[in-house]
Amino acid sequence: LGRRISGALHNATRAPDLDEKAFKAMLNEISGALLEADVNVRLVSRLKNSISTTVNFKELPPAVNKKRLIQKAVFDELVKLVDPHAESFKPKKGKSNVIMFVGLQGAGKTTTCTKLARHYQARGFRACLVCADTFRAGAFDQLKQNATKAKIPYYGSLTETDPAKVAKEGVDKFKKERFEVIIVDTSGRHRQESALFQEMQDIQKAVTPDETIMVLDASIGQQAEAQAKAFKEAADFGAIIITKTDGHASGGGAISAVAATHTPIVFIGTGEHMLDLDRFAPQQFVNKLLGMGDIPGLFEHVQNLKLNQEGTIKHITEGIFTIRDLRDQLSNIMKMGPLSKMAGMIPGMSNLPGMAGMDDEESSARLKRMIYICDSMTDKELDSDGKMFMDQRTRMTRVACGSGVSVREVEDLLTQQRMMAGMAKKMGGSMKNMQKAQQAL
Ligand code: GDP
Ligand code: MG
Repeated sequence: LGRRISGALHNATRAPDLDEKAFKAMLNEISGALLEADVNVRLVSRLKNSISTTVNFKELPPAVNKKRLIQKAVFDELVKLVDPHAESFKPKKGKSNVIMFVGLQGAGKTTTCTKLARHYQARGFRACLVCADTFRAGAFDQLKQNATKAKIPYYGSLTETDPAKVAKEGVDKFKKERFEVIIVDTSGRHRQESALFQEMQDIQKAVTPDETIMVLDASIGQQAEAQAKAFKEAADFGAIIITKTDGHASGGGAISAVAATHTPIVFIGTGEHMLDLDRFAPQQFVNKLLGMGDIPGLFEHVQNLKLNQEGTIKHITEGIFTIRDLRDQLSNIMKMGPLSKMAGMIPGMSNLPGMAGMDDEESSARLKRMIYICDSMTDKELDSDGKMFMDQRTRMTRVACGSGVSVREVEDLLTQQRMMAGMAKKMGGSMKNMQKAQQAL
């Protein structure tokens, strides 16, 4: 999906004389890509209309930067689709917050409830898990294993077959023990069926959760909307978690689910590991949907600034991305400000580890620390692909000491660089074409 949309944007905005015909063709191409990615047809036509209205081609004064306008309109409309502007539940310290998970079997509930418990645990909440899946043999075992690995207390039963009863026992026990985040995992079975919905309602009645979260697999496709609606009616969830966003799915179904239920996505699952859970950020999600950040927009913006990027661009077209490239880009971001806007335009930069949810001041402090880290490296290290840090881990400690940060932060920086290097490798070819196009303008 991303490739097709950015391709469409790119083709239209590359046309030397961007006329209405090129604009229409671009809109059609983007709509086609969204439909193919399982975004609901009504949403797509709404999006198309909104963009047409925003851009209103006929009445644009000749001096206006049409490309920028179109890119922004497409981006904004996509963000609107995934951001229902509804507040979601936040657990409060010193109180027992009960969160119940619902969703079909295989969606990722059991995996995600451990991730979420760990997330809150890391933020100082006393978190625990209750297994109310008595339907699938082995469900309790799976939760037990995950919970043990994450050192999270759990409750379940191998003999009791009434899920509502187990749920109530577990929640009561943990409430008594003053746990602050109590997450109830439920069964999903294979299909939506009345028995499943009845079971969900029974559990809800038994434990009266403060929040019900629906877990949706990103690859669900066209059924997403109907499924989310049916679950919403039966269990009235207040938040959605999309899992498996690390896979090949384009996530169009997830967009339709959000739009159909007006329910915010709160987290996304990005892998099978315990730590693979990210807070959902609409702009970043759309960036990912668009594949590689708003590169044409970024090009334009930086062309007006005297930034240090020739070297990096050359590198990327060669499929390389060194630590020095990362340092240059970090200092470019510092020059460009406001950060929250700019970071999102650079591929990979929108999800710098730990930056999500920070305000500009915080993230600028973090960027500065990242630059200090780079500046504590030798030239040889800076011009490397970072691998030597993996082979010889004492290097990290030395750099951490030198820059006055934790080893963890050095590790994060190297992770970031590795990710960008991977991306550079993939983009090498397409960037070359884009550069040619930029020069032709
Ligand atoms: P449940 O039936 O809803 O409880 O689903 P599970 O938690 O058992 O997950 C089903 C499968 O999806 C397991 O193999 C998980 O490892 C996998 N899974 C869950 N979340 C993610 C994710 O974010 N990324 C990936 N790659 N796999 C996931
Ligand atoms: Mg499960």
